[in-house]
Amino acid sequence: MYDIVLTGGRVVDPSQGLDAVTDVAFSDGKVAALGQGLGGKGAKSTRDVSGQVVAPGLIDIHAHVYWGATFLGVEAERVARASGTTTFVDAGSAGAGTFHGFRKLIIEPCPLRIVAFLNISHAGIFGYGPGFMVGESAELRLLHAGACVKAARQHADLICGVKVRLGNNVSELVGIGALDVAVEAAEELGLPVMVHIGAPPPRRKDILDRMRPGDILTHCCRMFPNAATDRERNIRREVEEARERGIVFDVGHGRGSFDFDVARAMVDNGFMPDVLSSDVHVHSIGGPAFDVLVTMSKFLSMGVALSDVVAAATCNPARAIARPELGSLKPGSPGDAVVLAVHEGAFEYRDSLNKTVTGKKRLEPAAMIVGGKWWE
Ligand SMILES: [Zn+2]
Repeated sequence: MYDIVLTGGRVVDPSQGLDAVTDVAFSDGKVAALGQGLGGKGAKSTRDVSGQVVAPGLIDIHAHVYWGATFLGVEAERVARASGTTTFVDAGSAGAGTFHGFRKLIIEPCPLRIVAFLNISHAGIFGYGPGFMVGESAELRLLHAGACVKAARQHADLICGVKVRLGNNVSELVGIGALDVAVEAAEELGLPVMVHIGAPPPRRKDILDRMRPGDILTHCCRMFPNAATDRERNIRREVEEARERGIVFDVGHGRGSFDFDVARAMVDNGFMPDVLSSDVHVHSIGGPAFDVLVTMSKFLSMGVALSDVVAAATCNPARAIARPELGSLKPGSPGDAVVLAVHEGAFEYRDSLNKTVTGKKRLEPAAMIVGGKWWE
């Protein structure tokens, strides 16, 4: 007897190359089975999801959910409800000095899964305010590889990498030096670095040259300056080379980091970002980013196939954070899934420069299963 069976949905699970109409069953918190006719085998709850898409629970690899303790943080539950996100990867809201509170006050009580990149700055993103920013990586005394390594080991079950924010208003005169400290800590931990690229300094090439295979460049569709594409709409050579070396490209939409023209040029050049994410925070939750599902709808509207869009928010981020058991509906995987409605019509999407694009499709969450249970 299964706990839940979803029948008749289009199951899109790129982790196993699956895109077919079939049933999915959940038991004991896990995916129990995939296949035809599971609805007839007995379940406490059966739901017909014909005409809808069933996907692994979405993973938002760039979110800010340290609500209440950092100004930019939002409530994970609120974002999950709107988007079908079951795993949030917090992108450096907390540093070594503030992670313990994140664990006790937010992560442990939350019914959703939250893991994190630990900010190389001891205080985390402490100085993001309404209309001002005190960059946490602009103060060299806060960048402490030893403290970062110690905290990451103490919370090894939750930490999937080290975060550093670079850019003229974030790392200021410390510049590329902030990345050097982050890489030093990450090397010691055997974990990836997630690098936020902003306006120079530092320059794109100096950043990419220092990144290692498996490191993640977030805000990869940002606008000029430090865009991934040039004025001819070509991918810059150092960006191509970085992908060949195994650097992971993440969207991290946010309020100020997504340019439709850059994203479209990347897609047109066959350079689809590896990972789609929202960078949801207090100033992007009401648009233009909203959440990872809206970011997915934007790429769907640019003509990217549904299975590629789903991969970029399920198995690709799972691989990037070395948790391949997530983002999959293989039997035995954690029982996280989302049922999506694909609406057809004319939908207006906005980027960080206030440019709008009209798309023909919009994804909306119809239901979520978290840990093998309905999540309302
Ligand atoms: Zn962010």
